[in-house]
Amino acid sequence: MTIRFAANKTAGVKTVYVTGESGSQYVVQFVRRAGMRRVSCSCPDFVYRGQLKATHRSCKHIRAAQTELHNERVNRRNYLASLELQSEQLEDYSDPKFECKL
Ligand SMILES: [Zn+2]
Repeated sequence: MTIRFAANKTAGVKTVYVTGESGSQYVVQFVRRAGMRRVSCSCPDFVYRGQLKATHRSCKHIRAAQTELHNERVNRRNYLASLELQSEQLEDYSDPKFECKL
């Protein structure tokens, strides 16, 4: 499965394109607004089985997108943490207690 994040930057909306093994591309969309979180997929599994059974609220594309988003968030957190560490190291070296004397 191939996962690609859409470039759209609409607040509270995250669009993910998921391409399955068959080559079909589906659109997974997360919508997050005050008091509401909704996720949908354009695949037949989600659309039709979702109509048959109200509790069927997921599909393999949604699960794949959620995993990818989770990994992205963890990576970003680690990246920011590494930047913070670097800036702390820089601050240490620019500490005025380090006197410059030749
Ligand atoms: Zn799906």
